[in-house]
Amino acid sequence: MKIENEPILRTKSTAQREQIFHGLGVSPGIVIGPAYVVERGAVSVPEYMVPVSRVTAELARFAQAVSKSVAQLGALKQRVHSQEGAASEDLEGLLEAHMRMLTGSRLIRGVDARITEHRINAEAAVQAVTTEFMDQYSAIADSYLAGRIHDISDVANRLIRNLNKVEVHSFTNLPRGSIIVADDITPADTALMEPRRIGGIVSALGGAQSHTAIMARSLGLPASLAVAGIVSAAGTGRTLILDGGEGRVIADPTAETIAHFTELRMQYRKKRRQLYRQRKLPAITRNGIDITLQANVELPLELEAAKANGAQGIGLLRTEFMFMNRETLPDEDEQFETLATFVTGMAGQPVTIRTLDIGGDKVSNVLRRYLESQNLPDSGTSDNPALGLRAIRLGLKCRPLLDTQLAAILRVARLGPVRILLPMIMSVSEVHQMRAAINQARNKIATRGAPTPSPLPPLGAMIEVPAAALIGESLAKEVDFFSIGTNDLTQYTLAIDRGNEQVADLYDPTHPAVLRLIELTVKAAQQAGIDVNICGEMAGDERCVPYLLGLGIRDLSMSAGSLSRVKRCIRALDDTAYRQASNIFTPPAGAEIKT
Ligand code: PEP
Ligand code: MG
Repeated sequence: MKIENEPILRTKSTAQREQIFHGLGVSPGIVIGPAYVVERGAVSVPEYMVPVSRVTAELARFAQAVSKSVAQLGALKQRVHSQEGAASEDLEGLLEAHMRMLTGSRLIRGVDARITEHRINAEAAVQAVTTEFMDQYSAIADSYLAGRIHDISDVANRLIRNLNKVEVHSFTNLPRGSIIVADDITPADTALMEPRRIGGIVSALGGAQSHTAIMARSLGLPASLAVAGIVSAAGTGRTLILDGGEGRVIADPTAETIAHFTELRMQYRKKRRQLYRQRKLPAITRNGIDITLQANVELPLELEAAKANGAQGIGLLRTEFMFMNRETLPDEDEQFETLATFVTGMAGQPVTIRTLDIGGDKVSNVLRRYLESQNLPDSGTSDNPALGLRAIRLGLKCRPLLDTQLAAILRVARLGPVRILLPMIMSVSEVHQMRAAINQARNKIATRGAPTPSPLPPLGAMIEVPAAALIGESLAKEVDFFSIGTNDLTQYTLAIDRGNEQVADLYDPTHPAVLRLIELTVKAAQQAGIDVNICGEMAGDERCVPYLLGLGIRDLSMSAGSLSRVKRCIRALDDTAYRQASNIFTPPAGAEIKT
């Protein structure tokens, strides 16, 4: 495979040795380092008994994991097939063999029988049946069968990962600068990565607006997703080059290629240093429009980057991380302590805390088990997780979870300026229920004799479901601010799964329909005299920023790493560019915008 405009890579010897892959460049940066392949790693297997009344549900959960595994393998096979040279016919054959093992096979029948007869959970049943197979096969000395044992173990691991939803890996002992390579990297995996130790991430699946991609950008980790064939090409310890801006990944690069990318990396770092120098300048356009730039944060270690890059507050604090990679739910005190680090850390700058938005692609194992114990299936196990019991819907159905978080937020609001943000709002009634829940949480704290914030923190609604944008006028009368979540707004308006690499090319936040909904939301906020900002990834994309300003947005929140780039774009915007951006719908109305 050739790289356009880079003749240095086209020599004959180069083409024979190194392999070049293309995926979605979702987080910029160039890194050269050893691969660490997660795919073949062992997975942890929880074991527990399933009550008779839950056996059917457990069989259904297993059937879903099987379908998901088949779909993943199908997607991988399709991508491998469409990329000549990137993967061999052998790889397709292997994926087919894995798919066969998941359809009506002895493995599947065996697991079903174990769940029904032994009443054990699906993960434990997969483990038991696989071990049985392995024992039988390894008793026969045959190299072909030895290969099959490896395949069975790969398929079983995939099933267990899909049942588990969250893979807990330890990335702490890897060589510095390692590039993590996996079929799929979950947000929980990403939360475990220490950016100073990990070089970058590469996965075979995933979309540009998936939560994993967002977290990689937030952590400043170069990343390329949807890179077909990479898992089998990159063995642990082999050298990789990852160009997260372009989405390129090169396995076993030659010395020439390494030298070329070392030079590119130097240029990239120089540009970043130049941008960083902008951090103290005001974000003001040439025609005098003042813009507030805040940071999206979802892990405590991002706080320093937000401050260092000149964020004027935290516009979106995602609280999901508190529920990931752990065995027990965080209690009120623990949530208070964690949130307090952000509020005191921002030293008087506002912090917008979003209530739990777990579900969809943000999955928590401990929460799933807790919900099961409450007879509430987590949305990740439904056919349409993004449309299921997630975010505010989950909170309102599972009040202990919501009430604990609200109490922690109210306590922390005494330490500095805090705003509460509600995810996935689609009706006025949800806001009313949330206001009632907040009042109850305040009363509960007061009956303990503890101080409560007065007045209560401003309450905001995420506008990320088209319904919310369409009833913006009514919602604006009920809340103190709007925050437009363009990641989900785009997903739900265009009916495009933001995490699905198959439709990633169709995902377009500048689609006229999405811009219309943003326009409606801004107008509703302006009429009601409430604040409105954008906290979706669009806010950090300098190609979109002129349009957002043109639509009347004056407040943007984004990954800390994007602040300087967006500021440079704002400072360069003059009267003409601004007027053009303000007229995006006229003429002709609804014209497609190409940025
Ligand atoms: C959004 O949907 O735009 C958003 C900011 O929320 P999240 O990415 O966490 O779903
Ligand atoms: Mg969202």
